[in-house]
Amino acid sequence: MIRQKPLHVAPRTIMTPGPVEAEPSVLKAMSSTVLGQFDPDFTSVMNEVMVMLRDVLQTGNHWAYPVDGTSRAGIEAMLGSVIEEGDRVLIPAFGRFGFLLKEICERVGGDVKMLTCEWGEVFEPSEIIGEIQAWQPKVVAMVHGDTSTGRVHPLKEIGEACRSNDALFIVDAVATVAGMDVRPDEWCIDGLITGTQKCLSIPSGLAPLTYNDRIEAVIQERKSVEAGIAAAGDPSGHDRRIRSNYLDLSQLQDYWSPKRLNHHTEATAMIYGLHEGLRVILEETLEARFERHRLNEQALTAGIRAMGLELFGDPDAKLTTVTCIRIPEGTDGEAVRRQLLDDYGIEIASSFGPLHGKIWRIGTMGYSCQKRNVLITLNALESVLTHQGCKVHKGTAAQAALEVYHQKKAPEITGIPG
Ligand SMILES: *Cc1c(COP(=O)(O)O)cnc(C)c1O
Repeated sequence: MIRQKPLHVAPRTIMTPGPVEAEPSVLKAMSSTVLGQFDPDFTSVMNEVMVMLRDVLQTGNHWAYPVDGTSRAGIEAMLGSVIEEGDRVLIPAFGRFGFLLKEICERVGGDVKMLTCEWGEVFEPSEIIGEIQAWQPKVVAMVHGDTSTGRVHPLKEIGEACRSNDALFIVDAVATVAGMDVRPDEWCIDGLITGTQKCLSIPSGLAPLTYNDRIEAVIQERKSVEAGIAAAGDPSGHDRRIRSNYLDLSQLQDYWSPKRLNHHTEATAMIYGLHEGLRVILEETLEARFERHRLNEQALTAGIRAMGLELFGDPDAKLTTVTCIRIPEGTDGEAVRRQLLDDYGIEIASSFGPLHGKIWRIGTMGYSCQKRNVLITLNALESVLTHQGCKVHKGTAAQAALEVYHQKKAPEITGIPG
């Protein structure tokens, strides 16, 4: 019999657009004792999570709770609970995650129309609004910040057009919540989904979401039809049930309501992590957190430019939480990433689809978004590029970043020295 040695995980500096480094107190909270999912001690943790989640999501919606699974479980729960066979869904996609929305909407039977633009750009809102008016979709599904291209899309005007044309507006805000300002109520967003492993600094495994009474009405109507069919049989032969049991928001909200109707066995350790993660965010305050993300992004981009590297994409639509860098001509982007990991324990990201092999992506999200990480990443990148024969300006990157930090002091994360 082979005896396995205990698990050893080497330390890492994670500078990708997710997963990012977890808040240490979150990891500690996650190792708390197991509670049953109906234990009053646990249900009060659930109630506290809902209260804190509303604040972090900046919403007055009653429904704000996590779905078990990674971010796409939440996206799939929201879209699958709302969209029925043949429903019109408009998806303006400005990167890879727009195509994830497409795939999910098609699988639940939606009649999907895509709008696309050049990767690295975003849409003129008028193009989307024109299509909403002309085609009258039931749902408009969009990504707020697409990590594949590092762009963020303004949503307010589009949300207002959805509201006045009676379309439901559903938004993937996985890459932005708790790192950039996201305002579902002010922007007329009906349903919004995020994930734990990005700016919330919690390991991956939950998809917190929120929705308003317009979405709740759709879900409840499908549920009452379902109950009617069960009682009388459906003469039309139409099955309007939400197709997934696990991702049925009408059932999940009954578990997150005081009814506490039995559904799945809740992932209690993940909920402890979410509780602590949300608490830490609110303790820092959203304003200070957004400011910290802006400052570290400025320092990072100043350093990248000083090195002589070029940023990718429309600068006016840049995500604060992701920086895309063009891989210099003649440089093996994957060899650079491998050496950063092997020699420095630093992970940066490659890219997908049309951008594969063309750009690197560096995330500045949540707990990973701190001065120390930005400075060591810049120094490491400069030395790895030099080692691999790529010509960069030497000794300038960290200096440029330090300039940014010393004009305005970086807010420190509690628990990290200097
Ligand atoms: C990371 C990311 C997701 C990820 O989904 P997972 O299921 O958590 O892997 C979805 N949307 C966007 C915009 C993302 O950046």
